[in-house]
Amino acid sequence: MSGATPLRTCAGCRLVRPKAELVRLAVIAASGRVTLDLSGRFPGRGAYLCRETGITCLRQSRRHRSLARSLRVGDDVIDEPTLAAALRELVTEEST
Ligand SMILES: [Zn+2]
Repeated sequence: MSGATPLRTCAGCRLVRPKAELVRLAVIAASGRVTLDLSGRFPGRGAYLCRETGITCLRQSRRHRSLARSLRVGDDVIDEPTLAAALRELVTEEST
């Protein structure tokens, strides 16, 4: 047992997984919009979605409004098509 692996909960499917298996989402302070935080270094509140099933989890999180709630933003600033495209790109990049 390492005890060093940070665990996070996916805002969509609510699974608890090692942080490395999730992708962080954060709010860009300047625009107030939600973006993928690939560096994991955006300040402020973050939320997590599964990398593997990110698009499905994104949809689930919108349905439950859990993403907006975790990030303390309005549901309307979550641009689902843009985030879904970014998630798809992420998965494609990793499988090549
Ligand atoms: Zn998930």
